[in-house]
Amino acid sequence: MIAPHLAIDGGSPVRDGLLPYGRQTVTERDISAVTDALRSEFLTTGPRVGDFETALAEVAGARHAVAVSSGTAALHTMLAAAGVGPGDEVIVPVITFAATANAALYLGARPVFADVDLETLLLDPRSVERCIRPHTRAIVAVDYAGQPADYDALVAVAGDVPVYADACHALGGSSNGKPVGALTEMSSFSFHPVKHVAAGEGGAITTDDDDLVEAMRSFRNHGITTDHARRAAARTWTYDMEVLGFNYRLSDIHCALATSQLEGLSANVSRRQKIAARYDAGFRGLSGITPLRTRDEVSNAHHIYVVLLEPSQFKSGRAEFFTALRAENIGVNVHYIPVPWHPYYQELGYERGGWPVGEDAYERMLTLPIWPGMSDYDADDVIEAVGKVAAAYRR
Ligand SMILES: *Cc1c(COP(=O)(O)O)cnc(C)c1O
Repeated sequence: MIAPHLAIDGGSPVRDGLLPYGRQTVTERDISAVTDALRSEFLTTGPRVGDFETALAEVAGARHAVAVSSGTAALHTMLAAAGVGPGDEVIVPVITFAATANAALYLGARPVFADVDLETLLLDPRSVERCIRPHTRAIVAVDYAGQPADYDALVAVAGDVPVYADACHALGGSSNGKPVGALTEMSSFSFHPVKHVAAGEGGAITTDDDDLVEAMRSFRNHGITTDHARRAAARTWTYDMEVLGFNYRLSDIHCALATSQLEGLSANVSRRQKIAARYDAGFRGLSGITPLRTRDEVSNAHHIYVVLLEPSQFKSGRAEFFTALRAENIGVNVHYIPVPWHPYYQELGYERGGWPVGEDAYERMLTLPIWPGMSDYDADDVIEAVGKVAAAYRR
């Protein structure tokens, strides 16, 4: 059999139009929710913020949620509430979005990067154990690709150091039946359009702790202890700014969209899981292409679907796979460049080479499209294109 001609070599692509790696699904109900907000009295700090927080807390199995303006703001707010400050160290995985580590920098703390597990790319508890030092103030695990980190193992090595979740990939997932959002004392979420719930921009922290909620509500509102509604209720104009906070508020317009989106969450996650299962089956017989493993006790929310290439089997590397798959109109991506490799971190004195698993995985990882509006035909196009490129590049 003659191998089909790759699109990058002038052959016809597997698809006519580009299939993006992620995409939001916006329904007519979402649109009416936003227009209702626009017609209402409040565009920000009105009733839709509290409504969203209540709905999110319920889904996340936590007593409270605090809505903020982005996932990055959520991480910053969460670590501020945890008391992280100058001189502290915060352990984060080497493979994550930069915001996980940047949140520590915002507070004058130093991110310490731990390595990840090869099969899951989740924070490796053994590596975390080696990173713990007297100044370690917090550990932030990332629920990479959508499956919860191994919090039991992390807590076991953490001693007195609290473990928090960057759960931006994992809303709608669970571990041993417990929802993401209830697996750690505080968990951070993002409502960026590629995530499970789209608000345009947005984020939140979930927790059961009343004092942390008070601290985070103040932090998102300049460090001021009351909002306008509480002042109105107390018939006073006066307020106190007690700490240096930020304007990290999320508007009622965003919360209207997010609340409506939340109603579609479980359908969204089920559809992602079906696509992931189709990929798993499609790649089972394809040697040299290894999907990440989902741990037995978790339900994976599948924010992204990542495969690792086995370099010994191919004469071309990840960069060639990336370019060839894009030419086939498959919107592949890479999640993530190791954070300490970024020029800003290099300037801070971080060096490459300390994380054998994560840095090696980075060199051979590819993110394939996964989002709820994708059809089975779309998924089959991805499987076909990966098979086509793998066949052409096989040694
Ligand atoms: C998306 C994301 C963030 C940041 O969220 P934004 O809402 O874009 O600020 C942080 N950490 C991880 C792991 C993410 O995927």
